[in-house]
Amino acid sequence: MILEEKLVEDRFLTPWWEADPCPDDCLCHASSQSEISRMVGKTRDNPYFNHAVYVLECRHRPEKSAKLLAINALDVKSVPGWVIGAARSERLLYVGLSKRPVTRIWHHATARGANFTKVFPPVRLLDIDWHPTLADSYREEPKKAQHLRKHLDKAFVSQPG
Ligand SMILES: [Zn+2]
Repeated sequence: MILEEKLVEDRFLTPWWEADPCPDDCLCHASSQSEISRMVGKTRDNPYFNHAVYVLECRHRPEKSAKLLAINALDVKSVPGWVIGAARSERLLYVGLSKRPVTRIWHHATARGANFTKVFPPVRLLDIDWHPTLADSYREEPKKAQHLRKHLDKAFVSQPG
């Protein structure tokens, strides 16, 4: 019998709030550019693969405060549907891509990244896959999100594209 390939790594199976103390690579205690650079550097296995598809775990907020924050932090008149969807799910993951993931993740961690991470700030860098071209990362980003949705059925996985 062939052993089934592991579908998701162990760190995906433990929500950050169950890790005590904070897991390695938390973004709540380590959010400077140099600390993020160290975390990102650990994931690089090929110097010629420069395009990152990254997964952040984000902090949950109750629906009421998520709605209030969305109206205040985003330039919107009504609360977007994803805010409510995410607030009703405990585990929140964000999948993004960048050729400069250190800067991009730092921006996410300091409320200057995506709308999603302005409302649900990242607390942990879960994963980075590296790809050789921008086209590869654009193709792999939605696949990564689909894979996580399939295997982590209670997680809300944001992948705005
Ligand atoms: Zn922490």
